[in-house]
Amino acid sequence: MRIMESEGIPIKIWATEIDEGAIQQAINLSKLTFAYSHIALMADAHEGYGMPIGGVLATEEMIIPNAVGVDIGCGVVAIKTDKQELNRKSTEEILNKTSQRVPMGFKRHKKPQNWQGFKKIPDSRIIKQELTSARKQLGTLGGGNHFCSIEMGSDGFIWLMVHSGSRNLGLKVANYYNTLAKKLNVKYNIVPPKYDLASLSIDSPEGREYFAAMEFCLAFARANRQAIADAFYDAFAEETKSQEILQQIDIHHNYAAMEKHFQKQVVLHRKGATSARKGELGIIPGSMGTPSYIVAGLGNPESFQSCSHGAGRAVSRKKANQIITEEAANKAMEGILFKGWRGDYSEAPMAYKDIEEVMANQKDLVKPLVKLTPLGVIKG
Ligand code: 5GP
Ligand code: MN
Ligand code: MN
Repeated sequence: MRIMESEGIPIKIWATEIDEGAIQQAINLSKLTFAYSHIALMADAHEGYGMPIGGVLATEEMIIPNAVGVDIGCGVVAIKTDKQELNRKSTEEILNKTSQRVPMGFKRHKKPQNWQGFKKIPDSRIIKQELTSARKQLGTLGGGNHFCSIEMGSDGFIWLMVHSGSRNLGLKVANYYNTLAKKLNVKYNIVPPKYDLASLSIDSPEGREYFAAMEFCLAFARANRQAIADAFYDAFAEETKSQEILQQIDIHHNYAAMEKHFQKQVVLHRKGATSARKGELGIIPGSMGTPSYIVAGLGNPESFQSCSHGAGRAVSRKKANQIITEEAANKAMEGILFKGWRGDYSEAPMAYKDIEEVMANQKDLVKPLVKLTPLGVIKG
């Protein structure tokens, strides 16, 4: 970790290579009058909307929708199965069945899905407006880098992993409250508009409403991943006669929560960052062609007890498609089952940072427990 002094509070950086855009955004954050202690950039940090992805921000009583991220509650669930081997044909069968059962990309379920959370709706106009649509989004993967993967663990067991978030519901909530915050910030002149970091006081009606809507999206995202994981494990069990799940871990990596850091109660924003309290289990995915890690947090206060949420993008989607050839992308996926590129290489392993380097840069934040090597993957 290195410390960068800024006009505002210091910026602590765990990444060795980091884009200029992310640095500028961290400087903007450091100058917020309500930012607390320091800004933390994880080993996978890169530019995002307003705040870098792979960034951690503590504030006093203010919440920033763009510091939570647009996919509220995006995260990963990892399942350790009771099986120790899986051949290529079975891997293919499980992935095929899963992609038939779990809607992917922009697809949703035809019928509304059941979830007990739908009975406890917060008082938020946008949540109420999106509810009917959200019922059909529950248990759908989404597109981009959301994935279901089958992995061989260094512990000798087969693991399943699902990466997804709060689907269109979370996006609508994020945009709605960011727009609202922008209007209020102009009125009260709280944050320079060009920072794209409009904030709400958690003691204001709007801030309380956003907090409740965000927490609803977190619960929705978790239920969404659970529904996908259930379908995925069912397909796995049908094929392998698996009897039980030995362990399950589920984490969010886009959220805000009230937490205590350096003896102070703060609003802790993790945007593309994972909680890493002492002994807490986390999941750090690499890419569709490289390893991922199950980790245990070391509880380092300097990162606000956080670690990276993945390897992080090395290049933008656009740049990836300019520089990655089909041949190179195929080579990086050798031996791993997947559906093909459809002319888009923006998710190829080389579009992401080197996961081993990212892990080496955060040795003071997490201890690796299980290394997962991909056998097959479905991308949304
Ligand atoms: P994000 O939450 O920012 O959308 O992505 C989280 C991280 O997941 C990325 O930084 C990347 O390292 C990792 N990732 C993206 N696609 C895949 C994939 O197909 N498989 C695995 N194991 N990891 C991925
Ligand atoms: Mn997401
Ligand atoms: Mn994510």
